Amino acid sequence: MPYIFEPPLQPNVAIKDSQNRFPVRRIYCIGKNYADHTIEMGGDPKRDKPCYFSKPADAVVENGATIPFPQMTNNLHHEVELVVALKDGGKDIKVEGAASLIFGYAVGIDLTRRDLQKMAKGAGGPWDVAKGFDNSAPMSAIIPKEDAELSAASIIELSVNGEVRQSSKIGELIWSIEETICGLSKLFDLQPGDLIFTGTPAGVGALKPGDKVIGSVDGVGTLSIMIGN
Ligand code: MN
Repeated sequence: MPYIFEPPLQPNVAIKDSQNRFPVRRIYCIGKNYADHTIEMGGDPKRDKPCYFSKPADAVVENGATIPFPQMTNNLHHEVELVVALKDGGKDIKVEGAASLIFGYAVGIDLTRRDLQKMAKGAGGPWDVAKGFDNSAPMSAIIPKEDAELSAASIIELSVNGEVRQSSKIGELIWSIEETICGLSKLFDLQPGDLIFTGTPAGVGALKPGDKVIGSVDGVGTLSIMIGN
């Protein structure tokens, strides 16, 4: 059956050292997954459960891109995050079986219109306009799990114009990667092509036009973007 117009392209991400591409189905995200960031946002890491939200699949942006400064914000924030890419899925995944779903890892930045998020929180409204806007999910090439050297000691870091703003260790995650997959699968039927942004450590802050932003996770990769006008 013909479509009434050309269907949009399948969103996709590079795979390190490969000509093949990773087709993106959904982008799930977790908030409040590092204690120090939960505290800087006014939460209580002992009490707060992770909150899940999502971004549209076509919000992904390739490493090296210049991202136009988004509309309707005066407070665009960076949140460097470890991204998990799934090659398999399911519902009600057990923690012990979660690792077998993972294709690989990447470095991502959960770009956030913090002013719109603050308004949404105040109004008890949804976060879509704060989190799910165009170009809000820049990420590095995905490194296959077997090639990655990810451990609890891996440093996750973000710098702006050479100044380190965020620095922590993957071991500081409140909910582990496996627990996060397990938790999401209680709410959604996970599928191959799903990406999970696993949360950001403390040090989030504002970006302005002309900023050069570099995010990295030891053993996973590096992401470099520019903020345009
Ligand atoms: Mn985030």
